[in-house]
Amino acid sequence: MTTTSAIASIDTMSHNSAASASRRSRRRHLLVGTAITLVVLFVFAYGVKRVIQTRSWQVAGELISQVETDERVVALTFDDGPTDSDADAVLDVLADRGVPATFYVNGKDVEGNASAMRRIIEDGHEIGNHTWSHRRMAFVSPTTVAEEIEPTDDAIRATGYDGPLTFRPPHGQKLLTLPLYLAKHDRLTVTWDVAYEDWSGNPQSSDDIIDATVENTQPGSIILLHPWFGRTNTQKAIGPAIDRLKDQGYRFVTVSELIG
Ligand SMILES: [Zn+2]
Repeated sequence: MTTTSAIASIDTMSHNSAASASRRSRRRHLLVGTAITLVVLFVFAYGVKRVIQTRSWQVAGELISQVETDERVVALTFDDGPTDSDADAVLDVLADRGVPATFYVNGKDVEGNASAMRRIIEDGHEIGNHTWSHRRMAFVSPTTVAEEIEPTDDAIRATGYDGPLTFRPPHGQKLLTLPLYLAKHDRLTVTWDVAYEDWSGNPQSSDDIIDATVENTQPGSIILLHPWFGRTNTQKAIGPAIDRLKDQGYRFVTVSELIG
């Protein structure tokens, strides 16, 4: 090899190694970029999930999950339904104990369960709007929000109920369109701070529901139970839970009375 060709060969080698170093560097940049993008997406998705699920805050409009008070006063609330077939099991225990409650009902169940609705009203309970179809309300259009809320208001008012009408989203879920609608219509959102998973597929025992409800209640709590659609374990828990809380000095009021 001549001196000139040796220099050319070294030059080519150094050129090749520079090219591969630059490829490695590009690959490293791409990996770092992808990792950063994934982390940002993950944090964003986590943040959105938190906003959807948090029960004590929403982006617009007033939301209440409990009330700050030293007084031993609480609101008992029942979600979904109602169902005529469960009306006596739910309403007799309340009537026997003189306890008012707040019922967040679904528009789709109101008309077909007229006797349950009638008794809820006659017994002096409060009624709230829990959407028409009980769909998840995080990723919905403004039209869907209106279609879930307004016909439900109309169905409740058509029963003759003329009391306060607060709103509770199914599963407590909301993101943007729902809170913006609620704020625009000056509508109060009411969630809860005491709930046991009495709606889950695996039915909890009455004792578990009673214990969890009583142990987690504090002054100003909003308690949530799901007694409709034949949930007998929850139905059987209502009376004993009320009795134990009364023994602890608690008084029961409707949501609107609690909020004042
Ligand atoms: Zn519900």
